[in-house]
Amino acid sequence: MSETSKAQFDAIVIGAGFAGMYQLHLLRDKLGLKVRVLEQGSGVGGTWYWNRYPGARCDTESHAYCYTFSESLYCSWDWSERYPEQPEIMRYLNFVADQLDLKKDIQFDTRVSGASWDEDVRCWRIMTENHGEYTARFLITAVGCLSAANIPNFKGLDSFKGQWIHTGSWPQDGVDFSGKRVGLIGTGSTGVQATPVIAKQADHLTVFQRTPNYSVPARNAPLTEDFKRSVHKNFEEIARNMKATTNGHPWGVENRRAVETSADEQERLLEAAWQVGGMQFRAVFNDIMVDEAANKVMADFVTRKIRETVKDPTTAEKLTAFDHHYSTKRPIIDSHYFETYNRENVSLVDVKEAPIEEITPRGLRTSDGTEYDLDIIVFATGYDGVTGPLTRLNLIGRDGLSLGDVWQEGPKTYLGLQVEGFPNLFTITGPQSPSVLTNMPVAIEQHAEWIANAITHIDQIGASCMEPTSTAVNEWETQVQKAAQATLLITAKSSWYLGANVPGKPRVFLPYAGGMARYRDICEDVVEQNYKGFKVA
Ligand SMILES: Cc1cc2nc3c(=O)[nH]c(=O)nc-3n(C[C@H](O)[C@H](O)[C@H](O)COP(=O)(O)OP(=O)(O)OC[C@H]3O[C@@H](n4cnc5c(N)ncnc54)[C@H](O)[C@@H]3O)c2cc1C
Repeated sequence: MSETSKAQFDAIVIGAGFAGMYQLHLLRDKLGLKVRVLEQGSGVGGTWYWNRYPGARCDTESHAYCYTFSESLYCSWDWSERYPEQPEIMRYLNFVADQLDLKKDIQFDTRVSGASWDEDVRCWRIMTENHGEYTARFLITAVGCLSAANIPNFKGLDSFKGQWIHTGSWPQDGVDFSGKRVGLIGTGSTGVQATPVIAKQADHLTVFQRTPNYSVPARNAPLTEDFKRSVHKNFEEIARNMKATTNGHPWGVENRRAVETSADEQERLLEAAWQVGGMQFRAVFNDIMVDEAANKVMADFVTRKIRETVKDPTTAEKLTAFDHHYSTKRPIIDSHYFETYNRENVSLVDVKEAPIEEITPRGLRTSDGTEYDLDIIVFATGYDGVTGPLTRLNLIGRDGLSLGDVWQEGPKTYLGLQVEGFPNLFTITGPQSPSVLTNMPVAIEQHAEWIANAITHIDQIGASCMEPTSTAVNEWETQVQKAAQATLLITAKSSWYLGANVPGKPRVFLPYAGGMARYRDICEDVVEQNYKGFKVA
């Protein structure tokens, strides 16, 4: 093959995490297309390739944090723990890649620097930083929702004499914290996972908290042989449940309102759920996301638990000075996070009271003039979520339109799958789809399958392009905002769901909050109505 023909594909997929791997399998093995995946990392895994920080593990239970498109694949893997750690998830994703022989069509160490639609030949031209240009009829982004790191623009960062690291690009060889004074900035899900583990190694750990977060014990434990057998035996039921629930987890929300439950019964139910631990804690009542009084029942319970756990009242006060309703930001589960503040080598600094003013050669200084001497700074500051990975791709659609410009006021899509003016571009778990509000492998499988079916449809009717109409885009935007307004999610003003963690980012609710099951029905209905809302030309 000449260099030119080598670089021409039916489809280019960007990203080799859960999404890119499954999309490759579908397009190559089911549709018989010529496909190449471009991935900037040196291996598969996406999130789990990059997030190697201490304590990194998923919050979805292992038997649901995996592919369910194939029973034989599901049943040929055994998880060891209730919540697998990063290395185990990486082993799983490598196992899948090997089983499906995916790696031969993934080009690693290849960062996509831009892509533009060529109207004359009706294809995408994809530029890479170091491996030339590719063309493809279809461009599918599998860049995830949490892959564009958010590193606050602190004054003086370059002057820091120690080591600083963002948790999402953790060194492959790890970081030795022993004997070190460590500063950890950020108390979202990642900060909460990393704190207990770093505290055990470091000489001293100072956690810099801007917003306290609710968290529930994960109660992680090794899985019994009985449990492993039972998940394989009950594969069909588990997979069916994951598809039927609002959030893609295999458990449903109880049909019970907190506001209609007596105080004693509330307490009994919540205590029982607290002992079980995990994300299911949210499922005890069905009104907590829509009714402030119901939500307060949960918030009060968790607050009390934290205060019972943390011995120092000042620290406990800071850890419970919540600025949002329970579960309206990304829900967190933890392994001994609050207990960690009882250690002598751990302290908590409230940077809402006194913000970080400057990183100095020796550490950092807060606005009240306090200097913190540090050897290592860990940025657990999260991501430019949902839209960031896409706007950073430098995508240029028809008439030189850039995605960044089109989304200046917030994302505009149809179903989170396509953008008007960007023909044949498909975005797996794009903004305005359920994405980060779900157990993500479920959302990913649904999108990858929908996209494969859409491409089949385009080819079957002899068309060359697909893109949404502006009417469909506008109507979907209304539905997305309505769905968010119907919940308390919209009230969490400091949430990255609203883009609040990135200075200058438009404050728009990013995912579709109407639930995964309803969303799946909407997508199926669109297909049944002959791809209603899409122009297939
Ligand atoms: C710490 C952490 C914990 C999480 N825990 C959970 C959990 O418990 N449950 C859950 O459902 N979800 C969780 N998530 C969300 C997680 O991202 C998804 O579950 C899932 O891994 C997303 O897969 P993906 O393939 O869509 O994207 P990713 O895994 O993010 O993969 C995207 C890939 O695209 C690549 N890429 C991006 N831009 C480019 C470019 N320009 N050129 C080339 N390659 C590019 C990236 O390198 C990356 O490998 C967690 C996320 C994080 C960060």
